[in-house]
Amino acid sequence: MRIVIKVGTSTLTHQTGSLNIRRVEKLCKVISDLKNMGNEIVLVSSGAIGMGVGKLALNEKPRDIPTKQAAAAVGQCELMYTYDKLFSEYHHTVAQILLTSADFDFDERQNNFQNTMARLLELGALPVINENDSVATDEIVIGDNDTLAAMVAVNVSANLLVLLSDINGLYTADPHTDPNARLIHKVTNIDENILSLAGDKGSKFSTGGMITKLRAAKIVTERGTDMIIASGEDPDVLYDIADNMEVGTRFYSNTK
Ligand code: GLU
Repeated sequence: MRIVIKVGTSTLTHQTGSLNIRRVEKLCKVISDLKNMGNEIVLVSSGAIGMGVGKLALNEKPRDIPTKQAAAAVGQCELMYTYDKLFSEYHHTVAQILLTSADFDFDERQNNFQNTMARLLELGALPVINENDSVATDEIVIGDNDTLAAMVAVNVSANLLVLLSDINGLYTADPHTDPNARLIHKVTNIDENILSLAGDKGSKFSTGGMITKLRAAKIVTERGTDMIIASGEDPDVLYDIADNMEVGTRFYSNTK
């Protein structure tokens, strides 16, 4: 299987913005094992701004663009350093790709991206992708990594996109406030009803919330890729997903 896995900042870092070492170590171990089983994996990782905030000892996620971009530049190094180190322990080679929306808007750039990805996967490398936050301004910003992950999944013709998040799927209501909220296991049609279930966004570092996840689901399911929203709290969940067990919320592609 070719799987694109997106991890959000809330999965990778503590509330302080510093790295959640135990979680990230486990994530890298499980992803390495999935690759050892023969799966092709692409990782879309957030966390650049969050980790930059931690490393620069800022009190909270910056609001102004230059500070955000500076934090991303610092944090992206830290992020890749961490992945390089941890995946090397399991003899896997990471490759960094930073994208902006312009890379998908022009055919030539999109082709280049697709060719590079194909070659990296052939070579057995693990592409780690993020938005190029340090240069992305209003006109070229994708803005959230759920959408970025969906665009990547479509461009590499992935079988599956997995969004690891601080929530384990789509609920009928907000599970933090409504005791009757039920997890929806399967979605076959992303209609107005489903879209209306997206509440507000979660932690202070996260960008998207549920609405961007549902939009991502729409993008990929229309182009032949299934998507799963699952909790990133325990990365072992990826084994269950690879084993085709029922986990989180699965959005079924409507073109198969
Ligand atoms: N690209 C941003 C970062 O790495 C995160 C965007 C997102 O989490 O959706 O910090």
